[in-house]
Amino acid sequence: MQTTIFDKIIAKEIPADIVYEDDKALAFKDISPQAPTHLLIIPKVSIATINDINSDNAELVGHLFVVAAKIAKEAGFADDGYRVVMNCNEDGGQTVYHIHLHLLAGKPLGWPPYQERLK
Ligand code: 5GP
Repeated sequence: MQTTIFDKIIAKEIPADIVYEDDKALAFKDISPQAPTHLLIIPKVSIATINDINSDNAELVGHLFVVAAKIAKEAGFADDGYRVVMNCNEDGGQTVYHIHLHLLAGKPLGWPPYQERLK
């Protein structure tokens, strides 16, 4: 399994603005925010892409959503709404190969989230 920048954040070898941590997951501010609130929620063990999700790690992946909802409630934007996104591979826009939920909030988010017209 290749290591990524997120392994270094989990190991506290490089700094991150951590907003939530438990024994299975970590949430921290995205370095390049695309909304007033832009967090990344990651499992502490590496799963490279959505294609690597299976029945063995499904509960852990579900936990990432539990963390998203908990953060949203505690931060006070659960009722206004928010978006969670997980990109997969090149066409999906994935750049870090350690799965992560983007949690975006703090403004009305456009849909669809891409600019080009369908071809
Ligand atoms: P992806 O493109 O894989 O869906 O998302 C990767 C995200 O990680 C990007 O939004 C990018 O800004 C964020 N990111 C990349 N490197 C770092 C870093 O070192 N620290 C933090 N906090 N975010 C990072």
